[in-house]
Amino acid sequence: MAAATLSPEDYHPRGVHQIVHGQETSDGAGVNMRRIIASPELDMLDPFLLLDAFSSDNPDDYIGGFPPHPHRGFETVTYLLAGKMQHRDSAGHEGLLRSGGVQWMTAGSGIEHSEMPLQEDGELSGFQLWINLPAAKKMDSPRYQEIDPEEVPTETRDNGVTLKVIAGTTSQGTSGSVTEVETDPSYFDVSVPAGIEYIESVTSSHNAFLYLIAGEVNIGNSRISAGQLAVLDAGNYLQLNAVEESRFLLVAGRPVNEPVARGGPFVMNSEEEIRQAFRDYRAGKFGFIEEG
Ligand code: FE
Repeated sequence: MAAATLSPEDYHPRGVHQIVHGQETSDGAGVNMRRIIASPELDMLDPFLLLDAFSSDNPDDYIGGFPPHPHRGFETVTYLLAGKMQHRDSAGHEGLLRSGGVQWMTAGSGIEHSEMPLQEDGELSGFQLWINLPAAKKMDSPRYQEIDPEEVPTETRDNGVTLKVIAGTTSQGTSGSVTEVETDPSYFDVSVPAGIEYIESVTSSHNAFLYLIAGEVNIGNSRISAGQLAVLDAGNYLQLNAVEESRFLLVAGRPVNEPVARGGPFVMNSEEEIRQAFRDYRAGKFGFIEEG
């Protein structure tokens, strides 16, 4: 725990508010995935608007990728566990995303981009998370933070717990490479050996969730299994026990607390702003990807 100045009565462990499994769906050009946030069970967890998990070794599930489409008003975070994807956009930007790497795209006022698998066979797996922007930042210029796998800091603890720190700072002081994000998020990929306890401070003003990639963990009286997302209650730290060797994402962010209007790839504050986004896109104000 970083907060050494707190007395014991100031520690409030976060319990489990809700367990979510999500819904099988298809997006882009026929990419099969599971939608966990933005699902009938969990519409959003402010500031998190959407979480998709994709994992397949069958090319039919992913080969179509995500051909050109626009975004405005929020951030998309892609974290690959296995495989390779290529990103291109209407501003002439190109990037390669590899296993263990992260692309943190702040769409802001808008870009058109494509996200295509760079493989014809083998496993492709990972996550895409959408994080909202407050009204004052929705029309900022687009920005990218592309983090190669080698640039993701790893923290190893005495008890065998290891963390890949994508964003935010752990209670032991390891900071991720992604910086200056409006909602002050933390995004950790945590591995815990069987029978080991994991304790982490989680900013009390933030909403937080845990998504279990593999294994089984207990948080208080709740058992979380692989493929489940646990929405965490209020509190200032997380304490969990790994029933078996486990791996999970622990993600937290400051809520935006503004009205949310969604229209496909746009997330604004009002329906009129959504209509304006469609008009601007059709009028070419986002630019278009050069085919080539
Ligand atoms: Fe996209």
